[in-house]
Amino acid sequence: MGSISGPPDVIQRITQQIGNTPMIDLSSFTKRLGVQATVYAKLEYFNAGGSIKDRVALRMVEQAEKQGTICPGDTLIVPTSGNTGISIALIAAVKGYETIITLSEGMSMEKEVVLRSLGATVIRTASGVPYDSPKSHLGVAKRLAKELPNAHMLDQFQNEENPTVHELGTAEEIWSQTRGRANVVIAGTGTGGTATGISRGLRKYNPSFRMICVEPVGSKMSGSHHSVEKKVSSQPFLMEGIGGDFTPEVLDQSAIDQWYSAADKESFHYARKLIREEGLLVGGSSGSTVEALVQASRKGLINSDDVVVLIFPDSIRNYLSKFVDDKWLEANNLCQLTASLSSLGKVC
Ligand code: PMP
Repeated sequence: MGSISGPPDVIQRITQQIGNTPMIDLSSFTKRLGVQATVYAKLEYFNAGGSIKDRVALRMVEQAEKQGTICPGDTLIVPTSGNTGISIALIAAVKGYETIITLSEGMSMEKEVVLRSLGATVIRTASGVPYDSPKSHLGVAKRLAKELPNAHMLDQFQNEENPTVHELGTAEEIWSQTRGRANVVIAGTGTGGTATGISRGLRKYNPSFRMICVEPVGSKMSGSHHSVEKKVSSQPFLMEGIGGDFTPEVLDQSAIDQWYSAADKESFHYARKLIREEGLLVGGSSGSTVEALVQASRKGLINSDDVVVLIFPDSIRNYLSKFVDDKWLEANNLCQLTASLSSLGKVC
C-alpha cells in the first residue's frame, strides 16, 4: 500500500457540512409525467441538520455573533414550522447556546423528538390562529424574548440574512452546478427566503430567469404584498413547512414571477413517487414543487428548452408517522386517486 501524506481529510465540526448540496438529474422521472424540460433537483436534505434551513440558521447565528448581539450561553428563541428550529438547535448544541423552539400543534411529532434530542425546549403553540395572535408560534416567541434574560428571537420571517444566504450560496451553487443553464427554479414557500434569495442571485446572471413559487391550497402567502395584512387560512392543509396566513417581510414579491397552489393529495403522491421510484428520501414539500412543475408544463409555461431546478428542502425523517405511512394517508382521505393522479398509480 502506498503512503498517503498530508493532514487528515476530516471536518472539525458538523456545521461545516452545510451548503454545497448535490443536484440530481430528474429528467427521466419528469418526462414520465409529461414534462419535456430538462429538470434537476437540489437535494437540501444532505445538509447536516437535514434541511435547507441549516443555511439560514448558520448565517443568522454567525451574523448575530459578529454584530455582538448574541454569545454562547445565551438563549435563542425560534418560531418555526420545525426545520429552522432543528437547524438552530443543532448549531446551538455545537456552539453552546440554549434554545427555546415555538412550534405549532400541527407540526410532526418527529420534529419535536429531534429538537428535544438536540437539547431544545419545545413549546407547542395553537395552530389555526392568526400569525399575529399572542398565541401563535410568533406571538409566544416574541413574548418569551421580552420576558427571559439573555434571550434573543431569531426571526427568519424578518431577518434579511435569510434571503441573503440563498442569494450568496444556494443561487451560486445552482448556477455553477447547471453550468449557467438554469433558467427556472421552483421552490415551496414558507418564509419566502429561499425563493427571494435564489431569484436575486440568478437574475444577476440571467435577467430572464423565472422564479416559480408554490404554496399549499388554502395558504394565503401569495395573496398580498403587505406583510401586515391579517388573514386566516380559508382551508386547512396538512403540508408542513410551506404556506401560511400572511406574506412575510423577507418575501419580496417583485422577485417572484409565478405562484402555484398544490393540493395535499398531489404533493404527497409526488413525494411518495420520488421515494419509491428514484430513492429520493424527500419530505412532502418536495412533492409540491413537482406538482407546480406539472401544472406549469400543462399550461405551456415550461417547455423543452427550459432548464428547471426544483428545490427539495427536507427529508422523510420528519414525516415517518405522516405522509410516509399509508395508514396516515388513508386516515386523512388522501389515498383515493383523483383523475389528475390516476396515471401515477397507487401509493397506498
Ligand atoms: N419546505 C420545508 C419542508 C420547509 O421546512 C421550509 C421552511 N419553512 C420550506 C420548504 C420553505 O422555505 P422558505 O422558508 O425559505 O420559504
